[in-house]
Amino acid sequence: TQWVYCFGAGRNEGRAEMRNLLGGKGANLAEMASIGLPVPPGFTITTEVCTWYYQHERQYPADLEAQVKAGLKHIEAAVGTAFGDTHRPLLVSVRSGARVSMPGMMDTVLNLGLNDATVEGLVAASGDARFAWDSYRRFIQMYGSVVLGVDHHRFEEIIEHVKLDTGKVEDTELTAPEWHRVVDGYKEMVREVTGRPFPQDPWDQLWGAIGAVFGSWMNQRAVTYRRLHDIPAEWGTAVNVQAMVFGNMGEDCATGVCFTRDPSTGENIFYGEYLINAQGEDVVAGIRTPQPMSKARAKPGERSMEEAMPQAYAELVKVRETLERHYRDMQDIEFTVQSNKLYMLQTRNGKRTAAASLKIAVDMAREGLIDHAEAVRRVNPAALDQLLHPTLDPKAPRRLLAKGLPASPGAASGIVVFSADEAEARAQKGESVILVRIETSPEDIHGMHAAKGILTTRGGMTSHAAVVARGMGRPCVAGCGGISVDYNSQVLSSGGVQVRGGEVLTIDGGTGEVFVGSVAMIEPQLSGDFATLMGWADEVRRLKVRANAETPLDAETARKFGAEGIGLCRTEHMFFDPERIGAVRQMIMAETEAGRRIALARLLPFQRQDFVDLFRIMAGLPVTIRLLDPPLHEFLPHSEYEIAEVAQSLGANVEEMRRRAQELSEANPMLGHRGCRLGISFPEIYEMQARAIFEAACAIGKETHKAPHPEIMIPLVATRRELEITRALVDRVAQEVFAETGYHVEYSVGTMIELPRAALTADAIAESADFFSFGTNDLTQTTFGLSRDDAGKFLPLYVEKGIFPKDPFVSIDPDGVGALVKIASEKGRRVKADIKLGICGEHGGDPSSIHFCESVGLDYVSCSPYRVPVARLAAAQAAL
Ligand code: ADP
Ligand code: MG
Ligand code: MG
Repeated sequence: TQWVYCFGAGRNEGRAEMRNLLGGKGANLAEMASIGLPVPPGFTITTEVCTWYYQHERQYPADLEAQVKAGLKHIEAAVGTAFGDTHRPLLVSVRSGARVSMPGMMDTVLNLGLNDATVEGLVAASGDARFAWDSYRRFIQMYGSVVLGVDHHRFEEIIEHVKLDTGKVEDTELTAPEWHRVVDGYKEMVREVTGRPFPQDPWDQLWGAIGAVFGSWMNQRAVTYRRLHDIPAEWGTAVNVQAMVFGNMGEDCATGVCFTRDPSTGENIFYGEYLINAQGEDVVAGIRTPQPMSKARAKPGERSMEEAMPQAYAELVKVRETLERHYRDMQDIEFTVQSNKLYMLQTRNGKRTAAASLKIAVDMAREGLIDHAEAVRRVNPAALDQLLHPTLDPKAPRRLLAKGLPASPGAASGIVVFSADEAEARAQKGESVILVRIETSPEDIHGMHAAKGILTTRGGMTSHAAVVARGMGRPCVAGCGGISVDYNSQVLSSGGVQVRGGEVLTIDGGTGEVFVGSVAMIEPQLSGDFATLMGWADEVRRLKVRANAETPLDAETARKFGAEGIGLCRTEHMFFDPERIGAVRQMIMAETEAGRRIALARLLPFQRQDFVDLFRIMAGLPVTIRLLDPPLHEFLPHSEYEIAEVAQSLGANVEEMRRRAQELSEANPMLGHRGCRLGISFPEIYEMQARAIFEAACAIGKETHKAPHPEIMIPLVATRRELEITRALVDRVAQEVFAETGYHVEYSVGTMIELPRAALTADAIAESADFFSFGTNDLTQTTFGLSRDDAGKFLPLYVEKGIFPKDPFVSIDPDGVGALVKIASEKGRRVKADIKLGICGEHGGDPSSIHFCESVGLDYVSCSPYRVPVARLAAAQAAL
């Protein structure tokens, strides 16, 4: 088996497409090298070795060693130095790299190959003793903490000690002999802590680092990250071994991290940070303040790379173009400049905010880099959701506390918490929290996930907090130096103002502002790039998208978001209104038909007005109205006051009412007296509703000359006979109303398919139905025999244990519930080729469920108004 793949110096055995085998980093290093970009040579140990390693009690395949040796030879030949050579030593980095990037989750070791002898060689070869000893101490520090597990504080203490002793403040002020002292201190400390001398043999060092990278795949942070991002443990990580280039060899050297476009806004400008005379993680570590890339972005006192290193910068600008043209996407790159020469160390598709992903997709399509379909594919429907979230109302009063970096856009208000654990605990209780940290580390991600927003007082735009928050779509203000945080007394302060834990703070991740208290927010703009992309999505989409709505406000929102009708109007939601609930209770509690009819006559005008409003707003678009569905149980009076009230309206005594309420209460209401069972036992209820619908439709038709097309939907049908009876009732009322008003509207009558029996006998049911709407909430409950209201106690455990791959109420279960949908669709169409098919459960707004609906060939999906854009995009992607 080939376990090792070389890259660089004209020998590129990998390609970008091989990321499963080589990991993202390795695959892209090979790709960059093969398109002629300057990449230090190296080799990649495949992810298959990682898998093998964990299947064989952390052993390596027997033939790996020889292949690693050959890989080293490739590097040595390319660079002209030798591993362990005391005159011209080869130094390498050992870097992890999974299939998908897991920022900061796994460990990297730089400057490997240094020891007491080779460091002297490096002094001689570079002519720079300070650089050589600085590199050696960096190596011991990284290797010590990553491979040997020595706490990093132990290293910092030693540096602090030497600084104190010599009166130096900054790392950059230390001289070669002083770094030499640090190295001696490190070695002594490592021996003391680990009980062994620091490994001097470069070959041992190499295997130690390789083992640490493979070992880091199973460390706690990596495991948590994978769980949050649905990354399977079986994927494994690759290990990249690569010749070092040095950004810490003087003033004509630098290291940097940047994006080919602004990952916050999507703006087409070079965006990132670099540091002169620095190495590796210095840029993100926050020890020195990184400087901006482009002159245009430099603030007073800052020195951009464009100004400081014009030659390397110009080269980088060219690389940026080459990369974007090659990958046809925004890239996140890492580079190092050694003696004015540029080297590329990494590229990957850059993580970006929802706003940036939209802008970049639309811009790139306009620039001709990608076509419209590709632009539609590029935007994650779930991310689009974020753009539909509120921002601060510019006119709202506010009290500015401080300003930091706009690290991840969006606004959020919440109570201040200072630890990730507390953020998680309070969020679980339903509180909105803002996680405030001096800086975040991978140990904090569960808290960042739980928080509505994140605020840090240290770190830049590429700090851990900023990168992770953007990826999660959490608003984040980073590096807010004006605020000081005291974890011990649980208080933050700025300019004399104090905010304690538990008090409210608002952050605006788009501007970097932090406010005391909460600030009013407004709805997002739906024009510009958003409208453009939606237009492109609508061109390719086949599925229609409707909304679940019953109030005028919901209906208006739905239309604003582009809904093509209402797929589910739940009439019972109209019944809870305080004005009406009295009449509803009167109807339920009445023991005779005559009593019920009196109450229903009170409800009719309300109900009719509801439909008048809806039909007017929907202006001729289809409106599916579901007749009363929930168990009467839900409307029963509970308090003594409510019982007395109903008694009075019915002229009955309180005692009688109590008995009636008892009678009506059910042991298992969801499977009880509900849906069409109500309409069959109390036909006057459905009669009233049908009358309200037709009277409203005729009124609006007369008024606007645009007749609505009501689609009347019968819930909880299990047998064909149930539908026949209720349909006959609706048809009769329709004829009555048409005769009374002298007006006629087209309408259809159909049914929910939400019971397994209905799905299995859909051919028979289709004889009486003009349409089916899959009620996948109930269908999921009844297929799994799982009560949605009670499943919260064990469903998370089921998902965690992998018994259910996903919560079946969120994402449709294709094998069970989905199979029923498929059967019913096929049977329905066999009987009635043009029967209209839709879905109206929560699943109607879930992208993966929408893919399923496309595969079954449904006619439309219906979801909550705010999900409509998400559904339009997901439907387009499903059609592509
Ligand atoms: P991560 O996956 O955490 O980004 P990397 O493997 O990319 O870790 O390494 C982190 C940083 O170390 C890089 O951004 C780069 O600055 C530095 N680095 C890695 N390999 C080399 C190398 N061969 N020469 C110089 N610097 C390197
Ligand atoms: Mg790392
Ligand atoms: Mg990196």
